[in-house]
Amino acid sequence: MTRVAFLGLGAMGAPMAEHLTKSPFDLVVWNRTPEIARAFALRHRVRAALTPAEATIGADFAITCLPSSREGRELVESDQGLAAGLGRGSILIDCTSGDPVTSRGTAEFLSQGGVEFVDAPVSGGVKGAEAGTLTVMCGGGEIAVRRAREVLTTFAGKIVRCGEVGSGHAVKAMNQALLAIHIWSTGECLAALAKQGVDSRVALDVINGSSGRSNTSENLFPERVMNRAFPRTFRLALLDKDVAIASQIASDAGIDAPFIELAARLFSEAHKTLGDEADHVEAVRVIEDRAGVHVS
Ligand code: NDP
Repeated sequence: MTRVAFLGLGAMGAPMAEHLTKSPFDLVVWNRTPEIARAFALRHRVRAALTPAEATIGADFAITCLPSSREGRELVESDQGLAAGLGRGSILIDCTSGDPVTSRGTAEFLSQGGVEFVDAPVSGGVKGAEAGTLTVMCGGGEIAVRRAREVLTTFAGKIVRCGEVGSGHAVKAMNQALLAIHIWSTGECLAALAKQGVDSRVALDVINGSSGRSNTSENLFPERVMNRAFPRTFRLALLDKDVAIASQIASDAGIDAPFIELAARLFSEAHKTLGDEADHVEAVRVIEDRAGVHVS
């Protein structure tokens, strides 16, 4: 039976790992806060490991879903870390929204022990993770990505190989830059219209039947902003990290990318203002404060 280790049972990792419990895999989980792994293991009748090395010994695949590539790299290299557990021929699939440069370094490091690396960040949010309909963007060798599909299909609706190691993380970062730009620009447009006396519901109704619409105007604003619910499913801190990666990629490529740079600055400021636990869509609160108007 294929052995899988899942490390990082956060907002995304837990529902993704849950899909693996419903498939014929021998699953072992690990989480930094051990109580979370123990509770998951008890609920789903799988094993919880005490260390990443213990989780990954004998595993065909290890899947990580952590805040950033930095935590992933630490987990690989630490005492009792992934490198100590994973054997030759196994694959580390990193579902973290990470950065391509660190991914390439991690892949190089792991290759010395015969372990392959596939970056496989996901899109679709907690809802998509629960429904098993995530889009997975993969970076890695063709054979490694083909092999990784065996586990990725349990929680994915769409799996695309974007290129070599790091390309999945690069595509994800740019997707996040677009998300950030949509959130900020939609907030600004609605704030300006509110100042003109146009109700935001009326404005969204028009925009969503017109060419300025986006997932942000069609779904995020109606479901999270207009009702002031702002559910905390994807932390603003994580989107700040994503847009910073996108900005770094553009800068490393030597291209002029003022939109991406500005999005990185605005989301970094919003993160500082609203703190680590705020949801990403709460950035709209900063626009409202600056404009002195509510968009709902
Ligand atoms: P959470 O903050 O909910 O979970 C983070 C996980 O990482 C937890 O299991 C946490 O463990 C663990 N962790 C944190 N720091 C460390 C560390 N130093 N060493 C080991 N483990 C650590 O994040 P999400 O699940 O929301 O996000 C995970 C990844 O998925 C991020 O890269 C994010 O950008 C991406 N993503 C998130 C989406 C969302 O809607 N939430 C959508 C798409 C992608 P502990 O329980 O101990 O805190």
